Amino acid sequence: MFFARGSLGSVEFAFTDREDGLSDGNFESLNLGTSKAPGLPTDSVDDPAVVERNRALLAEGFEVSGLMMMKQVHGADVAYVDAGTTEPPVADAMITDQIDLALLTRAADCTPVVLADPQARIVGVVHAGREGLVKGVAPAAVRAMRERGATRIQAWVGPRACGSCYEVPEGMADEVAAVVPSARSTTSSGTPGLDIGRGVITQLIAEGVGVTDIGEGVCTIEDEKFFSYRRQGKASGRQGGIVVLRPAGDSP
Ligand SMILES: [Zn+2]
Repeated sequence: MFFARGSLGSVEFAFTDREDGLSDGNFESLNLGTSKAPGLPTDSVDDPAVVERNRALLAEGFEVSGLMMMKQVHGADVAYVDAGTTEPPVADAMITDQIDLALLTRAADCTPVVLADPQARIVGVVHAGREGLVKGVAPAAVRAMRERGATRIQAWVGPRACGSCYEVPEGMADEVAAVVPSARSTTSSGTPGLDIGRGVITQLIAEGVGVTDIGEGVCTIEDEKFFSYRRQGKASGRQGGIVVLRPAGDSP
């Protein structure tokens, strides 16, 4: 279930892998996503009831009562959520200062990021793919946290596609590198590629955020312990990054 799990002060976070869930086939087994890709037959989408049970298993494992998710659209909008938020916000980043409200970001090859300022007691999650990198969704989340009082933000960057695997047309690589030069890569076959994770990390460091790369040396395309859009096709599952703010003084 947990590829990695950790804490900083009263903040707890984790990144999930494919294991210990209930889904079958491409979605085996801890699939957290139900998004339909355009043009796909309905049987290529995981059973929503089973995905609900997977999410419940994750909540139980992470010791939270529920999971706040986003309707992710490859944008740069940041949503503030609290206990009164009833619908998943349409956003690719969300933040909260609410105790015991667990935030979940979902990804297959995109970069999941967890953000926290344990002193200011604000946490956030980000979903950053190629478009989110170019639009600056991670820096936007950092700024939104600062507007609510965060000063010393720490980021944990999760497992994603690596720059040796993520091949893109040369023009696309040029477009992204024009905005974030560090994201340019060369694939193992010598073709133009992108290292989205490296680009996101560059953006976070430029914002003055401390970064721990939890997914360093791991690649969702190469490692079958993870879901991968590139490896599995459009009908692939989703893993996640999750964070929660616990009551002050309640941390180990
Ligand atoms: Zn790779």
